[in-house]
Amino acid sequence: MNAIDNHYDVVIVGAGVGGGAMANRLAAGGARVLMIERGNYLPREADNWSVKAVFHDRKYTAKETWRDKDGKPFHPSTFYYVGGNSKFFGAATVRFRKEDFEVLEHEDGIAPAWPWSYEEFAPFYDEAERLMGTHGTAGADPIEPPRSGPFPHPTIGHEPEIEAIAEKLRAKGLRPFPLPIAIDRHEGGACIRCATCDGFACKLGAKNDAEVRLIRPAIATNRVDLVLDTKVLRLLTDPTGKRITAIEVEQDGQIRTIGGDLFISSAGAINSAVLLLRSANDQHKGGIGNNSSDLLGRNYMAHNNTAMMAVHPFRKNGVTFQKSMAVNDFYLANNHRPYPLGNVQGLGKLQGGMLTANMKIIPEWMMNLFAKRSVDWWIMSEDLPDRNNRVLLDPDGTVRIQYTPNNEKAHNELVRKWGQIMRSVGYPLIITQRMDITVSMHQCGTAVFGRDPATSVLDPFCKVWDVDNLYVVDASFLPSSTGFNPSLTIVAQAVRVAEHLLGNTLSAAA
Ligand SMILES: Cc1cc2nc3c(=O)[nH]c(=O)nc-3n(C[C@H](O)[C@H](O)[C@H](O)COP(=O)(O)OP(=O)(O)OC[C@H]3O[C@@H](n4cnc5c(N)ncnc54)[C@H](O)[C@@H]3O)c2cc1C
Ligand code: SF4
Repeated sequence: MNAIDNHYDVVIVGAGVGGGAMANRLAAGGARVLMIERGNYLPREADNWSVKAVFHDRKYTAKETWRDKDGKPFHPSTFYYVGGNSKFFGAATVRFRKEDFEVLEHEDGIAPAWPWSYEEFAPFYDEAERLMGTHGTAGADPIEPPRSGPFPHPTIGHEPEIEAIAEKLRAKGLRPFPLPIAIDRHEGGACIRCATCDGFACKLGAKNDAEVRLIRPAIATNRVDLVLDTKVLRLLTDPTGKRITAIEVEQDGQIRTIGGDLFISSAGAINSAVLLLRSANDQHKGGIGNNSSDLLGRNYMAHNNTAMMAVHPFRKNGVTFQKSMAVNDFYLANNHRPYPLGNVQGLGKLQGGMLTANMKIIPEWMMNLFAKRSVDWWIMSEDLPDRNNRVLLDPDGTVRIQYTPNNEKAHNELVRKWGQIMRSVGYPLIITQRMDITVSMHQCGTAVFGRDPATSVLDPFCKVWDVDNLYVVDASFLPSSTGFNPSLTIVAQAVRVAEHLLGNTLSAAA
């Protein structure tokens, strides 16, 4: 077991985006922090950029088996490392729209209002963009919410193939814009703008993931200790159930407990729910945090996602970094469309082997033929909170994701529409793949925050309503999935919670 000091102000479970941002800000404010991570540092090595290692051999994916709603086992595409899922993320670091913070009517129901307005949240987005080192162009997204100034870095720009498509889209009246991206691509930066970013880890450490931007700087303050290869099994409470007194961890097959004053679960939306469910005791029979609302683990969301290849039969696509453009023209309802459809953004350049890993019936040579000639897109629509979509523990302890997709009509409409648009700009062959339960990359909603303990698991500062010294700061708190990538919002909320703790709970304890 790594050396652990006698006293920490805060114990954080999970060194991903939420945990990393909490550690970073708390340490900057002078707090002593212990982080406990089940994984280790991801090695920087040639395999980081190998399609075979990443997609076929699944070298870096968690070695776990979960079950779907019918009890069918599957291997989730999730990653347990310092930096969490962001080690493999596409680095799109976007703000949710102002409308996402309000009640938003969808074809299939309602996305609820957040406890904060966009205006209240915006200063924390400023700080989150600075922490993540986001590149972008203010004012380019036609539905961008108000912001206080420019992005920390200018946009990385499009390569000629993507710029040509942007031109054609503009000629059709659409308003493509540079996707805000967090990679180290500016004067003096380490990024070489390669084709293996989205879905891969960066061999050069040039992706602005949680390890690079949040956790390593936090450790450099000497106020953060990080314990690796240590899985937190349970949270233990005092006899009243109102305070967490310790966590039970497993390392090298040994079980031990670690005490503390303030605990933060940042294990990710699925694993935080699992941890709180697994910690059920006499005072919290349905899991810690479930008493007031019966919502722990419920409202699981992960977006409706489709990958699309738009293929030109004769022209090769020579692009390297393709994830530079997005389109939000279909994000909100308007006069022509009574409900929101979602966002379209460039996907990291697909290679044949990435596709055959899932579509085994099509030979790799054929997929390579398509992939060399395709422009690739990620089409993402909001799925809505439903209490029956939930994370559960089966009697044998296996994680079960009981999820039935909803709001699919809007998603299918967007996929169809984007296919038509791609055909009209010169890509006659459209190949799509809908993402299934194994793709939990945008998991969220399993411990929603809100102003009413009867309808939320967490208060607006992510404290568990039922417990005095437990917070959940990761994608769990999101009350709606929105139609956009979640990581920047997780960082922004962590900044907000850290500021709150430093100004209240931790300063009172000092
Ligand atoms: C391929 C891919 C592409 C993506 N692209 C984007 C993108 O472009 N933009 C975007 O915004 N988002 C993207 N995402 C999603 C983004 O990475 C996640 O939203 C974000 O990482 C979630 O942060 P988190 O703090 O909730 O959880 P995580 O970052 O997953 O962190 C959870 C951490 O807790 C650890 N942990 C779990 N259980 C335990 C336990 N019991 N004990 C100790 N430690 C534990 C895990 O190992 C992990 O390190 C992508 C994700 C993937 C996988
Ligand atoms: S594009 Fe840049 S940040 Fe992304 S993997 Fe390549 S070198 Fe790393």
